Amino acid sequence: MQLRRKLVAGNWKMNGNLASLAEVSAIAEAAREAAGVDVAVCPPFTLIAPAVTRSGGLMIGAQDCHWAASGAHTGNVSVAMIAEAGAKLAILGHSERRADQHETDAEVRAKAAAVLAAGLAAIVCVGESDGQRRAGEHLAVVEAMLAGSLPDDWDDGELVVAYEPIWAIGTGNVATPADVAEMHAAIRAVLVGRYGERGGRIRILYGGSVKADNAAELFAVADVDGALVGGASLTADQFVPIVRAAAG
Ligand code: PEP
Repeated sequence: MQLRRKLVAGNWKMNGNLASLAEVSAIAEAAREAAGVDVAVCPPFTLIAPAVTRSGGLMIGAQDCHWAASGAHTGNVSVAMIAEAGAKLAILGHSERRADQHETDAEVRAKAAAVLAAGLAAIVCVGESDGQRRAGEHLAVVEAMLAGSLPDDWDDGELVVAYEPIWAIGTGNVATPADVAEMHAAIRAVLVGRYGERGGRIRILYGGSVKADNAAELFAVADVDGALVGGASLTADQFVPIVRAAAG
């Protein structure tokens, strides 16, 4: 039996409106036919609940949430709120949030702990900048991000790691299979070192300019357990072929 099912998750970022729910319906239909693959779409907060009504076998997720249960956090949304809306997972520590909202590893770790405690899946994003890769620091940078961003332990929910090199996000510059293989092996070693046998079951996604024409090659790399997809997740036409590539 396959140790880890592939997971293909779409990150709509700050895109989409009620009219986009037609894409959710089309993606859900394809997801039902893609045996052996988990499929998720993470729209903006305002679309989570309406997307759930169209989701069928598709999981709907959030792109962030706060670590606190409630309180004076203007503009933020708690785990209970996204769960009540129907979210089954949350993307945490995306590089755009680390850059725009100055999110720290400690904050990402607190968010992950809250999401897992609520029984949801937490997709924790890590990845190096172009400069860090050119300086040969990419492995050390990602290892440090994992050390700071992942919770020590959890009882419920599912921890997922997404390797997203910043230089590959939204640029069309996809990482080579060799670069991905090197990094995913390093991440797996960290996870097994930290969590033992449980670390071998954690799904590691690749993210960064995944498209229909490069997905199969990336999914064939060892320890690539799926993808986190930005731009190409906005339409069923572009996203469904990636889901099918994961199904093999
Ligand atoms: C992302 O935003 O997580 C992402 C991987 O974007 P893109 O697929 O557009 O590079």
